[in-house]
Amino acid sequence: MRPDVQTVNYVLPVQATVWFRLEYGLVEEDGITYIAATGRPFDIQKNLYQPLALPPITEQPKRPEGWQRWPHLHLARLDAKSPEGVLGFVNRWGLLGLWNVEGYREWRPAGEEYKPYRVKGIKLQHDTWFSKHFISPAHEGCRYKMYREPLEAFIEAVKEFQHFVALANGEKPEGYRYAPKKPEDRKSEAQDILNRYLAGCRPVSWYVAAPEQWSTYWQAPSLLHCCYLLTWLDLTGLRQYRRCLHRPCGGFFIATRPNAAYCSTRCYENAKRLRSYHRNQGHNIKIKG
Ligand SMILES: [Zn+2]
Repeated sequence: MRPDVQTVNYVLPVQATVWFRLEYGLVEEDGITYIAATGRPFDIQKNLYQPLALPPITEQPKRPEGWQRWPHLHLARLDAKSPEGVLGFVNRWGLLGLWNVEGYREWRPAGEEYKPYRVKGIKLQHDTWFSKHFISPAHEGCRYKMYREPLEAFIEAVKEFQHFVALANGEKPEGYRYAPKKPEDRKSEAQDILNRYLAGCRPVSWYVAAPEQWSTYWQAPSLLHCCYLLTWLDLTGLRQYRRCLHRPCGGFFIATRPNAAYCSTRCYENAKRLRSYHRNQGHNIKIKG
């Protein structure tokens, strides 16, 4: 067995193809809010999972929450301003792993000097140094429990990802003063962001003896990298990203039919109800069905 492979990793031979998820809550320390693991006995086998092993997307779900079964779509639709929304994400998929992401790993509050932290005895993929703000002071020696994420950095990374998905869809992203005018130019900008993340991922081969097969798997240093990687797989697989036409939802989804305009049955029905309400009010609003 290779020296950097952990014995607990029984699923695949390469440690970083798995991600971890624990129970998380918001914890405040010195005026900074962190997403950190909260107590509870720890069972490592229950907490590791394969973020890229996902169910196929075959039909629009009944409820909009159905899209939370895929981490990148969950992230693209996440309301980062809602603490419940953020906790819903991390309790389903784990932290984003920003200590392993260029541009976030040195995060600290404005005006503070960079104080690096090094995890001893753990070989991370790229750099082994990152901001001390990603380490929980009370982690009881558990390797997975020691990580935490400053809420501010988490929100920033979510916004960047949503900005990227909007650009990749040719949209003018909200809340940004500058965006190229032509949809093609917006997509080129998305391409540049995507390539920055893809540079951190790499394919690995996986040999299974019985029945004998060689397959391709992907190694990514963080869950955030996995979300970009999954979007890349969708884009190169010509899957169509759309925004739900039911305005109060407006979430991204993948169209499973050429004329799909709503992310879920629920949104379709709510839009229909709204339409007949407006019709009865004497308005005549045209909505694609
Ligand atoms: Zn919807």
